[in-house]
Amino acid sequence: MPYTNEPFLRSAAAEAAQQLFAAAEAEAGLRLQSLSTYRSYNTQVRVYNDIVANRGQDYANRRSAQPGHSEHQTGLSIDIGSIPASCAFDPCFGDTAHGRWLADNAWRFGFHLRYPEGGTPVTGYDYEPWHFRYVGLELAAELHETGIPTLEEFFGLPPAPDYGN
Ligand SMILES: [Zn+2]
Repeated sequence: MPYTNEPFLRSAAAEAAQQLFAAAEAEAGLRLQSLSTYRSYNTQVRVYNDIVANRGQDYANRRSAQPGHSEHQTGLSIDIGSIPASCAFDPCFGDTAHGRWLADNAWRFGFHLRYPEGGTPVTGYDYEPWHFRYVGLELAAELHETGIPTLEEFFGLPPAPDYGN
């Protein structure tokens, strides 16, 4: 798949991502690229510290994850962008044709939009229309059918507004 940073995912997630990207192009003529996938603990330290340095701790906690708390360390999460690049890592990605197609179709390939709009009090993260977590076909379909927006609510977990503090 096209990428900006070389992608690494667990094999089931990698195969599903390739199918997702192929379907976007075949069904809607939309080209996607992988922006970020697996990140090691040390990489997350760097990412998080950069954001803290530039934007402060509160912003960093809503937009990134403290090292040890990032879904990207699981090898199941992928940040997706468009080709040509537009609204990368920006909430406006959700209003692009690519972002809308992903929001509507990612579940068919086992992916879940992990940090939905309005979900901040539950997930602790701002809206991230580019961040998808592989949860498998069965759970993704169930989340889609029930319309339950977050994994926390689906599993009856308490909200995690201060997940890492
Ligand atoms: Zn992400």
